[in-house]
Amino acid sequence: MKINFNDTIAAISTSQGQAGIGIVRLSGKQALEIADKIFFAKDGLKPSQMKTYTMHYGWIKDKDGLVIDEAILSLMRAPRSYTKEDVVEINCHGGIIPLRRILELVLENGSRLAQPGEFTRRAFLNGRIDLAQAEAVFDIINAKTDSALKISAEQLKGKLSSGINRMCKALLDTLAVLEANIDFPDEDIERVDKKEITQKINKVNSQLKNILDSARCGRILREGIHVVICGKPNVGKSSLLNALLKQERSIVTPIAGTTRDTIEEIIDIKGIPVRIVDTAGIIEPRDLVEKKAVERSQKHIRLADLVILVFDGSRRLNQEDKMLMKKLKSKPAIAMINKIDLRQKLEKEKITKDFGQVIEISAKKLKNIAALEKAVVEMVYDGSVRPAESVIVANARHIQALKEAQKLIEEALNFLESNLSPEFIAQNIKETLGCFDDIIGRRFSEDLLDKIFSEFCIGK
Ligand code: GDP
Repeated sequence: MKINFNDTIAAISTSQGQAGIGIVRLSGKQALEIADKIFFAKDGLKPSQMKTYTMHYGWIKDKDGLVIDEAILSLMRAPRSYTKEDVVEINCHGGIIPLRRILELVLENGSRLAQPGEFTRRAFLNGRIDLAQAEAVFDIINAKTDSALKISAEQLKGKLSSGINRMCKALLDTLAVLEANIDFPDEDIERVDKKEITQKINKVNSQLKNILDSARCGRILREGIHVVICGKPNVGKSSLLNALLKQERSIVTPIAGTTRDTIEEIIDIKGIPVRIVDTAGIIEPRDLVEKKAVERSQKHIRLADLVILVFDGSRRLNQEDKMLMKKLKSKPAIAMINKIDLRQKLEKEKITKDFGQVIEISAKKLKNIAALEKAVVEMVYDGSVRPAESVIVANARHIQALKEAQKLIEEALNFLESNLSPEFIAQNIKETLGCFDDIIGRRFSEDLLDKIFSEFCIGK
């Protein structure tokens, strides 16, 4: 979709339910003119006469002079606004009807309904923020934990972008040297600059590596890890899920595909969004319904980042336990012995032999749940704590572009090593710069923007 900047756009920017206040937002050339027609300030000023960054109390009225709601209008004139255009925000009461009536009124008076994410898309196209920053807005709105919010807010402030820009600058310097060599081929690259160029490219390579090292952690913080609780029937899987829910903040997100034999919840364990699936404990299906349930459990296990295999400490290991242990051999798994409040009969040494670490808890008595949480956290961070100033990348699109950049850079280093002509190295550097440009949106297609912004809500 190509944006027509002559259009003034409007949308309800707050979530649509019953709330104390709600906001209808307008952006574009006619925003003030439209506000003039519908807003009647107590101080008698028309919005087009108001100063930027001021708020005014008044009433919204329709064309017959009928009062629709009491409101506060705030205005931000171009270019110092969210979109770099004239922006008007009408703060009214947050009911569905007043918000819709006011939206209809601004639409009747010359604006059109904004596309999803169009305010932010305009902010990007008008050059106020780059594409990575625009994507951060989406991530802030969708953050599931404090840690996810922190990385997104840093990205909006420009931490990732400045990291990318630093690498671009180093590569542009290198490119200049290389191009001088191409233009004056008599001067031998080997003699003049090879060492310097190698050093510069190596530096970018290690910066890239650092950022990419954060990707696993970043993606987990953004999207959560997929943990599957597994175990034969009655070992206490549901009790464990309940214990975790009791102990931690549960993030209420409706999840599609939840079936009656698998319960999925997202909980916040020390800032990590953990999607926990409690699978059906059926091992030997007796009928078609159970067979389907087993298939679903197996799919969950296949997709899991981590499996928690639960054993009942009060019973001896049986065939079902052993079968599960065998099945999970190749998966990252934590073994957990439940019901430690009862007399223990389980052959713990056999489990330790297979899993190394074993965590002993009582789901019912809420004993030692913290140890399980600690194990999950350790598994996510891999024992490495990142310094606060490092850039964390979490977005799949960015990660893909960075990986592509890394491939090109490593190839350029090989070319240098093999004394290939500077044209080849220059070409790789240009393509690397292209990958960086894709991330921050110096290069983009309308299709890409459509894809990114279609995930936004209307009004953002
Ligand atoms: P699931 O089939 O694996 O989901 O097992 P449930 O969570 O439904 O638990 C099966 C039974 O074990 C229930 O009666 C629970 O109350 C009991 N149970 C679960 N955890 C514990 C525990 O730590 N100690 C004791 N004594 N009983 C437990």
